Amino acid sequence: EYTPLKKPSWLRVKAQGGPRYEAVKRIVHEHRLATVCEEAKCPNMSECWSRGTATIMLMGEVCTRACRFCSVNTGNPKGWLDSEEPENTAKSVELMGLKYVVLTSVNRDDLPDGGAAHYAACVQAVRERNPDTAVEALTPDFLGDLKAVEVVVDSGLQVFAQNVETVKRLTHPVRDPRAGYEQTLEVLAHAKRHRPDVLTKTSLMLGLGETRQEVQECLQDLRAANVDIVTFGQYLQPTRNHYPIDRYLTPEEFEAYRELGLSMGFLEVVSGVMVRSSYRAEQVLEGNNVG
Ligand code: SF4
Ligand code: SF4
Repeated sequence: EYTPLKKPSWLRVKAQGGPRYEAVKRIVHEHRLATVCEEAKCPNMSECWSRGTATIMLMGEVCTRACRFCSVNTGNPKGWLDSEEPENTAKSVELMGLKYVVLTSVNRDDLPDGGAAHYAACVQAVRERNPDTAVEALTPDFLGDLKAVEVVVDSGLQVFAQNVETVKRLTHPVRDPRAGYEQTLEVLAHAKRHRPDVLTKTSLMLGLGETRQEVQECLQDLRAANVDIVTFGQYLQPTRNHYPIDRYLTPEEFEAYRELGLSMGFLEVVSGVMVRSSYRAEQVLEGNNVG
């Protein structure tokens, strides 16, 4: 992480530990399981793993896109997919004893369906082996292909998530040119139209230069798309070559956005300095008897 601005005191790293976390960590290392939590050095790891939540990346580590905030490598996987991934992912979830798993992926514009069928196979395999585990799919946008969205939404998951990432004005330059603000809204709206029983969710990074007015407009657009859950977290600039951070928001500002979102009718708004899109995800389900 590159820190051109002075880091505020509230941005300290949380201590990692606890018996449940240590036990999960041992299993993860023994079986060489790959989690986004560890690879991204997420500050919430001990809390999430102790609660039985983790994020797993599907379809490889090379993305066909190049968003300016993201540190994932860009390239062309040329149609490559691991046919054993659905079963191995299901086994990982079982070994880690997860109650809530977030399955996310890189963008796979090289595949005709954007990887939707493979994604759905992974969700199904996880649910078959772990019927009590709730699944959230944090998906790419499938270039706005709504049939691909339906394939994923119908796979047996509880939460369908896609990140709008930032307000409308900053979508370009922040996101890859093939991504789009309206495209993401339409994907989310369609997921809800298609399966009203599935919760929909999106995340924004703050500190990219957005104004409060723009955030409010974005929340209005998300409500209009019937999005259920929103998360806000602080943008951290991965390297000096990535999109420049504008500022650090205070914990009070994050709290104010949470209240604003709740007053606008969202089912849940998770907002905080260290919030990642998968942070405290399981609580929303517990509170709403889904899963
Ligand atoms: Fe993993 Fe997400 Fe929790 Fe971070 S917030 S530890 S990435 S589940
Ligand atoms: Fe990163 Fe996702 Fe953008 Fe790919 S599409 S560069 S993984 S944020």
